[in-house]
This record gives sequence, C-alpha cells and structure tokens, in this order.
Amino acid sequence: MNELLSRENGQRKQWERAAMTAVTTFLDNLATRPSHHDATNEGGRFLIEPQPEPRDISALLSLIMDAANEAVETAGPRYFAYFPAGGLYSSVLGEYVAQALNRYTGVSAMAPALVRIEQHLIDWFCRRFGLPETATGILTSGGSLATLTALQTARDARLGGIDPSAVIYVSEHTHTAAEKAARILGFASKQVRVLTADTEHRLDLDALRSAIVKDRQAGLNPFLVIGTAGSTSTGTVDRLSDLATLCRDENLWMHVDAAYGGGFWLTRRGREIMAGIQEADSIIWDPHKSLFLPYGTGMLMVKDARLLRKSNTVEADYLQDLDLRGGHPDFASFGPELTREYRALRLWLPLHLHGLHAFEQTLDKRLDWAQWLFAELEEDPRLHVTKPDLTVITFRSVRDEKTTRRILAAVLDTKGAFVSTTKVDGLLVIRVCILSFRTTWEDVVHLRGIITDAAAAST
Ligand SMILES: *Cc1c(COP(=O)(O)O)cnc(C)c1O
Repeated sequence: MNELLSRENGQRKQWERAAMTAVTTFLDNLATRPSHHDATNEGGRFLIEPQPEPRDISALLSLIMDAANEAVETAGPRYFAYFPAGGLYSSVLGEYVAQALNRYTGVSAMAPALVRIEQHLIDWFCRRFGLPETATGILTSGGSLATLTALQTARDARLGGIDPSAVIYVSEHTHTAAEKAARILGFASKQVRVLTADTEHRLDLDALRSAIVKDRQAGLNPFLVIGTAGSTSTGTVDRLSDLATLCRDENLWMHVDAAYGGGFWLTRRGREIMAGIQEADSIIWDPHKSLFLPYGTGMLMVKDARLLRKSNTVEADYLQDLDLRGGHPDFASFGPELTREYRALRLWLPLHLHGLHAFEQTLDKRLDWAQWLFAELEEDPRLHVTKPDLTVITFRSVRDEKTTRRILAAVLDTKGAFVSTTKVDGLLVIRVCILSFRTTWEDVVHLRGIITDAAAAST
C-alpha cells in the first residue's frame, strides 16, 4: 500500500518548478509594483478548507500570490516605513536548504558540525562588535525574543530572580519590546523607569544619574539600563560610551537595543556613532533589519556566556543523553526554545555569497542617501525635519498637524512610496527609513519629489 505522503517524492520536480516560477515572477516584477495596495479588508475570498483529496499546486500558489498582493509591498524598493530590509533571496535559499535538511540543532550532540557553524557565526559577530572572548549569543526569531532572553539573563545574573525593589531604566524612545519582556519576566510596570529623552532624543544621562540616586535613597535596587542604537521613531543612537561609563560607575547591567542600528556596525560611520556598544553586557540586533534578511532573524549577544547559559539551563531526564559533548553549545541552553529551525544558513549563506564588502557598501549608500534627503527636505521652508544619525528621517509641516496629515495622504496617494508616522516631541511626524537593499538612488530621488510635491499641494 502506497504511503500517500510519500507521493511528495514523485511530485517534487513539478512542485519546485511551480514554486520557483511563482517566486521568480514576483521578484522580477518588484521594481514596478505599486508601493502598497489600499486595504480592502476582504481576505475572505482566499479562505479554503483542507479537503480529503489533493489540490493542484498552481491553484494554491496563485491563491497565495493574490493574497500577498493585498498588502504593503514590504519586499519592494519603495517601502520606506518602519524598518525595511527587502529580504535577500540568498537568505531565502539558505532557509530552503536548512528546512530540507531538517537537522535538529537545539542540542549540539544531534548535529555537532552544523551547531559549530552557527556558533562560529555568532562568535564572529561578537568579535566584530568588539566583545571579549567570553561573549557568545544565539540567533532568535527577532529582536523581541532576543530582548526577552537578554533581560532574563540580566535579571538572573544581578537579582537572582524576581525582586520587587529592582529598577530598569529606559528612555521614552526605547522600543516596547523591552517593556513587554520586563512584564513577561515578572517586573511590575512601575519597576520600569521611563526617562524623558534629551533635546536630541537621546537617553538623558543626567536624568538617569539623578533617577538612580533617588531610587537608591528610596531603598530600591537599580540594576539595568537599556541604551538604544537606532531608536524606532527617529533612528537615534544614544551616547553609548558615556552610558558604559555610567553603568560601570553605578554597577548596572548595560543592555543595548541595536535591533535597527546593529548591521551598521559593519560600516566605519556606524562604528563611530555606536562606539561604546562593545562595553555592553548584552546586545540585541536584527539581521532582518540592517542586514536585509527576510523577517524572522534576530541576534542576542551576551558578554559573559556563562550567565546566558546559567539563566537558560534546566535539566530533564528525557534529555540526559544529549548533555554537552565535544564542547559545543546546546542552543536550548541559550534561550527559551528547545526545538528550533537551523537559523544559521539564512545569515551564513548571504554573508558568504555576497561577501562583506557588498553589505558595507549597501549600508554606506543608505547612510549617504539619508543625509542627502535630509539636506533636500531641510531646504523646504514648509517642513521641519530631523537630522538622521543613521537612515531614519522624520518631518512635519511647520504649520500644524492637519497639514502634516494632508502631506502624508498625498504621499501615500501616489503609491510611489510607503511611509509611516510617529510622534517626536509630542507632535505627529512623517517617518521615512531608507534601508531596503532593493531601494535605488532613483527611488530616493523619486521619494524626494513626491514629498516636495505633496508639501506644495498641501500648504
Ligand atoms: C524592531 C525593533 C525591536 C523588536 O524587534 P522584532 O524583531 O520586531 O521583534 C526592538 N527594538 C527596536 C529598536 C526595533 O527597531
């Protein structure tokens, strides 16, 4: 009797061809696709229920491609909202190979060579970031999960568990992933001290020092500060060197959220502006942002590997055969996941296939383009613009919020650029992030034109 699922073997070639055709057609048309489709809220027509008999792959794929059309074109060159990456195809292929291999890499004994490759990759990043030999880390599904494990490690290392008197310091521009992680880890919201940022939207170190003194006088236990290398609203990098000094003086755990900024460490300008990050006790960053990977890859780096391990190790009888052998890490002891996909290939393959220089050049260009766009928009007397540390620019009408909203609507109406909004100093601003590897210089010039026209038409 034929195993029905084994018919995969006979269908593979046809399925591969169909999937490749769908993907290739999609990628080949990205440059000319509109930046977004207006939401119809009509996903209903794509819903089909599994049936007992097989369906045809072409129909299934075309359903998915149609559903994917009803979306913001996040893979495309004119996506300037949030943190665009594009999604390198070399990474897609790495993922394809990794999933086909289906190796178990939660514990090293099951596939030591592959685990070794992943660890080598992470350790290489640790060294590149200037962290000491004692550092290591883990690839996660994204910045939020990396933040969770970082804060858990800090909590366990510094507090030994839940401590209602402990205090965490963040700025008003710290990403909400930190607050979420703190909540999951058992901190009450009043234990997270949100400091008003300074006039440049950076963590205010004077305010931080005063808050620490005040909290200690009140019998509380300051133990953790979160600095940001590339804030979500304005892409601003905190003064990490000064923050490191403060953390050393005050004996606080220094965590840096470089979810967006991290990849720029590969560039000279990035290293200059983020100097001091190498002093951090823990760092998280997202290769699915500033290294252009498809969504789903974050990285945690911890200065003292033993602390990461200690905070994440639990014993179980059914895992006793899988104890550390050969000195490689069990990734299950570096975070909350036991079973996980082999994440290394989606990062390893693009880095090797393209070479580091390609990444450095791509990031450098985006830094240049952001400075150019800032300079152009700043000349427009109708706009108030913030100067980018990296590649995020925000602007608003000098007149009022209603006008800013009109400019936004006019920009989006062109379908030639998708941008988002945020608040800076309490005021609504339009936010542009130039990051996708698919964005070209022409796209940036076009974006400038769209914004200028929209500003002219709205004021
Ligand atoms: C994106 C982002 C996060 C959250 O990371 P995810 O990968 O979305 O989970 C945290 N901090 C900053 C600064 C970010 O930009």
